[in-house]
Amino acid sequence: MDRTLILECNKKIDETVKICGWVQVRRDHGKIIFLDISDRSGVIQVVATGDLAGDLHPQDVVCIEGQVSKRPEKLVNPNLETGTIELQAKSVEVLVKAQELPFDMGAKELDLQLPTLLDYRSLTLRYPKVKDIFKVQASLLDGFRNAAKKLECTEIVVPTIAAASTEGGAEVFQVNYFGYKGFLTQSPQLYKQMMIPVFERVFTVAKAYRAEPSVTTRHLTESTQMDCEFGFVDFNDLLDFLENIAIATIDEAAKNCSDILERFNVERPKFGKTPRLTLREAQEIIYQETGRDNRGEKDLEPQDEVDICKWALKEHGSDLVTITHFPTKKRAFYTLPDPEDPEFSLSYDLLFRGLEISSGSQRINDYQQLVETIKERGMDPKNFEMYLQAFKYGMPPEGGFSFGLERITMHLLELSNIREASLFPRDMERVDVRLSTLR
Ligand code: ATP
Ligand code: MG
Repeated sequence: MDRTLILECNKKIDETVKICGWVQVRRDHGKIIFLDISDRSGVIQVVATGDLAGDLHPQDVVCIEGQVSKRPEKLVNPNLETGTIELQAKSVEVLVKAQELPFDMGAKELDLQLPTLLDYRSLTLRYPKVKDIFKVQASLLDGFRNAAKKLECTEIVVPTIAAASTEGGAEVFQVNYFGYKGFLTQSPQLYKQMMIPVFERVFTVAKAYRAEPSVTTRHLTESTQMDCEFGFVDFNDLLDFLENIAIATIDEAAKNCSDILERFNVERPKFGKTPRLTLREAQEIIYQETGRDNRGEKDLEPQDEVDICKWALKEHGSDLVTITHFPTKKRAFYTLPDPEDPEFSLSYDLLFRGLEISSGSQRINDYQQLVETIKERGMDPKNFEMYLQAFKYGMPPEGGFSFGLERITMHLLELSNIREASLFPRDMERVDVRLSTLR
């Protein structure tokens, strides 16, 4: 008999079908045993006798033949897509037996501390509420790709091994590259810029590596960036694109995953017109609102990001706020200084529900200016040979931005730690397993 997907059973009342999937939960009620079976389409309740159910337990892989029947009215489960039906088992084939689970995967909440949740990642990812996080993430990726394509960006795939540590800083991983010093790229930045004269508008979903030396709830050592870059644009075009793509990305996921947002008890994000503030304006507002005086600081600190987002929601009904004009010295070398006040740059961060989710800028596109800036920053233009080539031969005015996928996932679902929003998170202490166990 051919396999029927569980969700399809809704259309097969009184028919005999064969489903295949995993035992999620087993409930023994005397002689009758209820099994929740899941496959990629959904979950169904199976009613079996003790003989048929044998010693089945969670994560066993089974194929079950049986008759689809309507549930009595009072046993309908409104929370289940197959809640009006159940399957009366006639035969059970065990394809693979699972070992005894280390904890109860059938519980209403998976009550585990984060380290345990990650120690058993390949198992805990199967837990419905954990899996939900990555359905939202997949939807964010769809939303981003759709929005970038709508703006006529071409998708590119860029390298993550580099021969020079081009963005500087201590937060770079070195690799031994056949005896040469190699580095893992901290962003797809330089490659996407080189692609501007090729496609004019590009986007990429790329891994970024940061040897973040501190342990925070918002930093991973390997994260996923969703980047765009546009040629023939000015600062205002870039801000428009930034906000347009952010809203389209997040809104598509929120719409497609509204049931998940409900299960996580979080509200659909609000997108009134995104307020735009310079760093100095934001600091003034924070001072007025909270009395905390960070006017003159070079960047927003985490509490500033929280406070300015509270203000944006209160005053503008927006979960997003754009902050512009960060001090030139605080931004990467390729950032264009504001011609009217070069101490500040044509740069921006986008904040979402209290956290930076994106950064970007108008870039320096003049070859000479770029070479000078690299030198001023104490770096060697020789290390940028391939990159500078692109600017030597006709780089139009251009700019772009980069979104952190895990950060958006985290704040859309209001998770407390970014590790929950990464399938297999890497940090100072863990690469799948706890590093301390490897010593
Ligand atoms: P922060 O100041 O918060 O450490 P950043 O300014 O160093 O971040 P960018 O270089 O602007 O980060 O990277 C672009 C985006 O990628 C950030 O806005 C953020 O969403 C995400 N991102 C950056 N670093 C990390 C990281 N270590 N872990 C997870 N996401 C990150
Ligand atoms: Mg940033």
